[in-house]
Amino acid sequence: MFEDLDFKDLPKDGSGSLRDRIDRAKEKLPLPELMEQYGDGSAAATSARCPFHGDTHPSFSVYRGTDGNWRWNCFAGCGEGDEIDYVKEKEGYDTADAIRHYLELAEDGPAELDAAWREDDEDDDGRDYGW
Ligand SMILES: [Zn+2]
Repeated sequence: MFEDLDFKDLPKDGSGSLRDRIDRAKEKLPLPELMEQYGDGSAAATSARCPFHGDTHPSFSVYRGTDGNWRWNCFAGCGEGDEIDYVKEKEGYDTADAIRHYLELAEDGPAELDAAWREDDEDDDGRDYGW
């Protein structure tokens, strides 16, 4: 599956098959759904307790940028980033391993799960995804 990828030399210019795959993975497994898979669905909100530190006040925010990409941000200092940065923080991976893991999650995950989760979400309370 990864024969054509060289994780030691990640494209930085937005071109190449790896970047395309990441873009497709982000469409398939956007940050809020990735967080749900990690059991952090309650933090996928515009104001939430940070899943990376012992947060007593809502320091964490998940939002969709004007470029259409999802981002997370912890105002208390955990940092910010995209889906891959989230995997890095959760798993303690380096960038290459985080990309590999994220692609596996996105490309192997059954699409039906997405629809089921969205239906469940309508019954939930206290979440604001800004959709
Ligand atoms: Zn934090």
